[in-house]
Amino acid sequence: MLPDIDIKGRVALVTGASRGIGRAVAERLAAHGVDLLINAREESRVILGELADSLAGRYGVRCLAYGADVADSKAVSDMHRYLFKEFGRLDILINNAGILGDGLLGMISDDSIQRTLAVNVAGAINNLQMASRLMQRSGGGAVVSISSIIGLRGNPGQVVYGASKAAIVGMTLSAAKELGSRNIRVNAIAPGYIATDMIKHLDAETHAARLASIPAGRVGSAEEVADVALFLVSDLARYVTGQVIGVDGGMVI
Ligand code: NAD
Repeated sequence: MLPDIDIKGRVALVTGASRGIGRAVAERLAAHGVDLLINAREESRVILGELADSLAGRYGVRCLAYGADVADSKAVSDMHRYLFKEFGRLDILINNAGILGDGLLGMISDDSIQRTLAVNVAGAINNLQMASRLMQRSGGGAVVSISSIIGLRGNPGQVVYGASKAAIVGMTLSAAKELGSRNIRVNAIAPGYIATDMIKHLDAETHAARLASIPAGRVGSAEEVADVALFLVSDLARYVTGQVIGVDGGMVI
């Protein structure tokens, strides 16, 4: 018999959960009975608090909000300490927080380079490091980090972002090898072109060009990414680790 997605009672941390893909993943996990600590930047604290109350109310799970910059390793460490104090275990990490930092190579400022790498790369590693310690204490777990098609295929004007998202792939492969014997599975999702606030700034011409490169003929939704994350953290994927799953409507082909 095929196992169900039975993850009720597990504990998850979702970074960058105030909106977009992170919010959709938090919603899916809560709907499946997972207790959650949801994170986003300090500035999003109010929205995050409202979301936590809403998820707890609608799904009967425990959901707490924590504002922290994932690029700040001390703040991440404090967040994991808080998580352990409140929930006593960690089973699932969704390493989702990320920023774009676009710009043509000749125009990118040093600040933008440093900040993009700090949030997208160091932020993901900070959380993976802390989470792996907690997961080992709970007997194992599942990590899903959000990379991007840009980290696999590249795109003009996205040298730094592409580098940061390729780093997520390298991080995932090494961590999967390092943590496999501890019963911790580590996978990544490489979304294509997903309708969130992150892509709202694109002009009509760029939007049309991106759309034309998608065999499925449409933009993806945050929920479609969340569904794959749900699969990867569930026991349906219990023999899946070190994989990068594209959720891109065929854009990568
Ligand atoms: P979004 O901008 O809508 O949401 C980003 C979330 O990350 C927000 O909750 C924000 O508060 C949080 N965040 C940003 N910097 C943070 C920091 N320093 N510390 C803590 N939280 C922080 O973006 P999205 O489209 O939902 O993207 C989510 C992830 O998916 C990102 O890693 C992004 O690179 C990746 N992605 C998005 C697309 C797309 O087309 N939207 C495609 C490929 C990959």
